Amino acid sequence: MSQSLSKVAFLGLGAIGRPMAARVAARYPLTVWNRTAARAGAFAATVSCRVAPTAAAAVADADVVMTCLSTSADVDQLLHGPDGVLASLRSGTLFLDCTSGDAATSRRLATALEARGVAFADCPVSGGTNGAEAGILTVMVGGSAEVFERAKPYLEAFGKLIVHMGPVGAGDTIKAINQALLAANILSLGEALTAMVKAGVPARAGLEVLNASSGRSFVSESLIPARVLPGTWPKTFRLALLDKDVGIALDLVRQVGLEAPILSQVRAHTGLALKALGPEADYLEPIKLCEQRAGVEVRG
Ligand code: NDP
Repeated sequence: MSQSLSKVAFLGLGAIGRPMAARVAARYPLTVWNRTAARAGAFAATVSCRVAPTAAAAVADADVVMTCLSTSADVDQLLHGPDGVLASLRSGTLFLDCTSGDAATSRRLATALEARGVAFADCPVSGGTNGAEAGILTVMVGGSAEVFERAKPYLEAFGKLIVHMGPVGAGDTIKAINQALLAANILSLGEALTAMVKAGVPARAGLEVLNASSGRSFVSESLIPARVLPGTWPKTFRLALLDKDVGIALDLVRQVGLEAPILSQVRAHTGLALKALGPEADYLEPIKLCEQRAGVEVRG
């Protein structure tokens, strides 16, 4: 079968899964499945694809399976749970997990899949829902060199920079590190910007100077001007998932025998913010808590 006609199954139509799957549909015959069926129905109303009634039915005739679930534990359950799809996968299938997962579970899943002749790579992404819509995500891949080469044409549907990081789990590792730094940045900017405003410096002018100086970051350059200054606070990535990611990074730090006192504090604070804001809160909303504590708003 020629590569352009390979059949792809995409499982997990959440906030980022939807735009990723839509881009896959533009290149390959696509079958989708989502745990909450209504989401798959809504997706298929605007994107050319087949909706499978079960996950097992989705993967049964797929050449490539892509997953984008909340956690590696969810992917594990998808494979091994009561309605697990492991037995439905054909030998020779390529299984690309785009979940921001944990390396230990990915390695275990890879071994179970390999025993059935299915090749696995962890392929977490960065770049947000806008990046997915534009097809410019960064994709960090853990797997053999051969699997990486097989995976690339499919990942190119939504990825711009696609990097082979090393064996299975290596993609999860760099993704967790990135997320820990992202969380540290959001939390510290929340504290710093509210203090700055309270001290009398207007938010937009202060941010303009920061973004032309050495304190700048992706959060200060892109996210704060687009979402916080205008007060729009779109919900694109759940804080619960960021908290999960920082937890993965901390586990990793411990696994290599190190301590990370700063990142431990970051995790403590993402956990507190999650408790205060609830499971549907967006990842930037901890800044709202800083605003409440300071009695000011970062607007402009
Ligand atoms: P959402 O919370 O929007 O969606 C999660 C998806 O996983 C839904 O389709 C959900 O199904 C499904 N799911 C969760 N648990 C299970 C399960 N046990 N069995 C089957 N399906 C399940 O998350 P996102 O789409 O935002 O994120 C998905 C992954 O991508 C996460 O690992 C996240 O960290 C990562 N990510 C997200 C980014 C973003 O900007 N949103 C950016 C980069 C990475 P249901 O609809 O039924 O709830």
